Amino acid sequence: MPAAVLYGKEELRIERVAVPAVGPSDILVQVKAALTCGTDLKVYRRGHHARMITPPAILGHELAGDIVEVGSAVKHFQVGNRVVAANSAPCFKCFFCWCDQKNLCENLLFNNGAYARYVKIPGPIADCNTHRIPDHADGVPTS
Ligand SMILES: [Zn+2]
Ligand SMILES: [Zn+2]
Repeated sequence: MPAAVLYGKEELRIERVAVPAVGPSDILVQVKAALTCGTDLKVYRRGHHARMITPPAILGHELAGDIVEVGSAVKHFQVGNRVVAANSAPCFKCFFCWCDQKNLCENLLFNNGAYARYVKIPGPIADCNTHRIPDHADGVPTS
């Protein structure tokens, strides 16, 4: 599949890469919309992000699309669901998570890869930070 792979400072290459393999708790989303946020721009200009992405890696983390594959253990999503996925998930184990301040989690799991035809949403993000897009909501084309 085609993807925009970040190699370093202002070095983004369009390449063919393998479609990500899906583990038991992961979902695979066909990207219908991928946006560029301020963090993406900052990462592109700097060539890296201390916690969020280590090049070479497919850039992009603001996305919506259709689920095309679900892992064998996924119960709450199915193929064909329209979803929006955040780019991180808290660990639920650190001090801040225990204090219900998950936005300050010390072990956030990050995901990138939205600038591609398909993106894998890791199980922890699929479990707590991926949401169905209601059928009545416009804005993301259906397949
Ligand atoms: Zn962002
Ligand atoms: Zn945590």
